[in-house]
Order: sequence, then structure tokens, then C-alpha cells
Amino acid sequence: FWHHFISEMHEHFNEVAYNAWFKNTRPLSYNKETHELKIAVQNPVTKGYWEKNLASQLIQSAYGYANIEVMPVFQIEGDKSTERLVTPKVQTQVVSENTRPQTDNAFVRSLKLNEKYTFDNFVQGEGNKLAAGAALAVADSPGSFYNPLFIFGGVGLGKTHLMQAIGHQMLAERPNAKVVYIQSETFVNDFINSIKNKTQDQFRAKYRTCDLLLVDDIQFFAKKEGIQEEFFHTFETLYNDQKQIVMTSDRLPTEIPDLSERLVSRFTWGLQVEITPPDLETRIAILRKKAEAENLTIDDNTLDYIASQVDTNIRELEGALVKVQAHATIEHEDINVNLAREALADLKLVQKNQGLQISKIQEVVANYFQTSTHELKGKKRVRQIVVPRQIAMYLSRELTDSSLPKIGQEFGGKDHTTVMHAYEKISREIKTNSDIKTAVFDLKQMLDR
Ligand code: ADP
Ligand code: MG
Repeated sequence: FWHHFISEMHEHFNEVAYNAWFKNTRPLSYNKETHELKIAVQNPVTKGYWEKNLASQLIQSAYGYANIEVMPVFQIEGDKSTERLVTPKVQTQVVSENTRPQTDNAFVRSLKLNEKYTFDNFVQGEGNKLAAGAALAVADSPGSFYNPLFIFGGVGLGKTHLMQAIGHQMLAERPNAKVVYIQSETFVNDFINSIKNKTQDQFRAKYRTCDLLLVDDIQFFAKKEGIQEEFFHTFETLYNDQKQIVMTSDRLPTEIPDLSERLVSRFTWGLQVEITPPDLETRIAILRKKAEAENLTIDDNTLDYIASQVDTNIRELEGALVKVQAHATIEHEDINVNLAREALADLKLVQKNQGLQISKIQEVVANYFQTSTHELKGKKRVRQIVVPRQIAMYLSRELTDSSLPKIGQEFGGKDHTTVMHAYEKISREIKTNSDIKTAVFDLKQMLDR
């Protein structure tokens, strides 16, 4: 029945995903008493994927096809891999050159991998499944599967994360491997410096001797002939040595302006996969994972709300969570839908009101309270003026990204502590004084228009 199940799955999955989840997965033993079916999987990611997505299908298939009950239990082969993926410590030394002559110098830099950018921390879902499968497959067998792997897609969708995950995985399995991660601009600058400083040999040694070369945002090679020439030779050397090359870009190779024919053709030898924006379910899953990592307790409704507010960019989605968290800390409140709404309403206003001038805020506030901008900027300390002035300061802080001193300046040269005091006072009063709350609400609406 195992073979039946596998061939069934083969039809459902594309090659990339099939290889990632099934190629090195095999049944080990079956216990007729307990129905326990031991299955060997290659790494924790595959294990997780099976437990979450495939186990139930396996159970059904076994029952339906062979009329046997199974209780799948997954075992990671060699088992060391569990630790290797979950403890990023082994992976912090990114370029391990201890087995080779040192070729680094001040002009040849490579960047550290971000410890958080592992497969374990990568939530798979609609939009990135294919790319994740390809990255997994490449990490499993670098240099032989899809070479080069070309991941493309919009900003903040996880290209860098996925690319670095391959690096982490390789270092986990082979700590002495030479993994070089580089942003394409750095490659460009290093190259230019190496010419200036006559250190081209070191430059070449650095890039042409690695086991895994990760080049991020390669669209920056556009229109740069010299660099393309150099990269072409790097590519050739690595490729011929069966070393793995992974690239990311915001677009397809054919869409990169003035990218040389031979590079375009080489980039398409391997596999090109796109990452597209995540659906709501995936966004919720990502938020839940981040919240867990931060030890935040957030109920499902709130997660749902935040995820529905940011629908394209995962970096912005993370930003929204940070914003909600910060709001909760400042207000000493628990995170719930209302709080999230407040926090993110401001975020949206800030985005919408980019370019909103403090003078505009003063004008609208003065109008609302039937006073004048002159009075708001003045020193009079009567309540009819002080409250509008403080509200105007509060809104300036909330709705523009001006600094406190700058706001003080715009209010007739007041000290930044005065602005801070006004901001804190209004923040407090919004909660206790319904007049002020209404005024701030109305004003925000007016300014939003
Ligand atoms: P890109 O390189 O495509 O611009 P990044 O890889 O820098 O995007 O991702 C932006 C942020 O979103 C990073 O902090 C990354 O960890 C996070 N991220 C992106 N995709 C996922 C995902 N599928 N699961 C978890 N975090 C993700
Ligand atoms: Mg990136």
C-alpha cells in the first residue's frame, strides 16, 4: 500500500515538492498490535510537513486501499538533524575557511547569515510552497538538483529568508562547508575595490572556491557589463565544479535590463521559482509563529484582524505586529482586537499622511476649536488654548514622523519636553475624558481626508 500511496501522491505534487517530501522518506516497520508505522524522514522540516499535511492522508489511504489501520510515527534519519536545525548556534560561523587558505581581506566581505532565517522559521503556504520545496530540495542535494536555483518575486515575501535557509541547512550538515552569502551590490563594490587595490586574485579565490554561493537581489547587475563578465566566470567555475548557486531577484532573468545573453541562458539552466504574496491563512500562520517566538499571547480574532490589515508584504506584516506589541506595552493593556485596531489605525494614517505638514494640523485644530494658529504657537496658558495646543502637538507626533524638537520648533520654539508632556497627557486623557477622545477622533478623520 505504501507504493500505492506514493504514486498517488506523485500525481498531486509537482516534481519539486515531490522530491522534497517523498524522495528520502521510507517506511521502516509496522507493528500489527499497535498499528504503529515507523517512517523515516530526512529532516525535521519533512517530518513537520508529514505530520501536518500528509499523515492523515496516509491513514485514510491505508484504510481505504488495504483495509489496514496505521498510526504513523516519524523518525528523523540519523536524528542529529533535529538539533542541527533548531539550534542556530552551529550556524553562526558563516564562512568557515579553516580548511582552506585564508583569502579574506578588507576588500572582500561576505555577510553573515541571519540566524532567524532558517527553514524551521519559514512558514510554508500559498505563494511560497513551490519555492520552499525547491529550496529544500537544493539544500538536500546541493549542486545536483536545480543548479542554479533562481528565486524571484516582490519585496518582503521571503526570498532572502529562504535563500539563507539553504545556507543554514548546508552548514548544519557540513560545518566546514564554505557558504558565501552576498548582496549583489556588495559583489559589485568588492569587485571595484579589488581592481583599485589590485586584489583581484583574492576576490576571485573568495567567490570561486565556495561550496554554496548565495547572491541576493541580482537585478542590481542590470546594465553593469564588467560585473556581468566577472560573475559569468565565477558562475562557470562553480557550476563546473558542481557547486550550488542560488540567486534571488525581484524579476525574471529575461526582465533584467541589459543582462547579457549568456547569463540569461545560464540562469535558466536550473530552476526558476516565483514567490507570490501570501493568502490570509498563511499570513495568520506567520503571525502566530512570530507571536510564539516572542512569547506573546494573541487570540485568533486579533491575529485574523492584523493579518487582514496587511496583505502583500511580510516584512510589513511583522511591522504591524511590532506596532501592536509596542502599543500594548505603552498602554499597559493586553493585546486584543480593539487595541490592534487602535495601533494599526495610526499606522495606516501615518502611511496615508506621508507629507502631512504640522502647519496643516495646526490649521485644522485651530479651526475645530475656534481659535487661531497664532494662539496655538503662542504662550497663553488658558485652558481654551492649552488643550487645543496639546492636542495639536499630540497629533503632530502621531501623524507625522517629525521629531519632538522639530515639533517644538513648529509650535513657536517650545522645548521638546513640553511636546513630550503634551503627548503623554493627551494619550492618558483619551482614555478618561470622552470630550478629548471625541475631539481627537474627529480631528484624525478630518486630517485623513
Ligand atoms: P525579500 O528578500 O523577499 O524581500 P525577506 O526574506 O527579507 O523578503 O522577508 C521579509 C521578512 O519576512 C523577514 O523577516 C522574513 O523572516 C519574513 N518572512 C518572509 N516569508 C516568511 C515566511 N514564509 N515565514 C516566516 N517569515 C517570513
Ligand atoms: Mg531580500
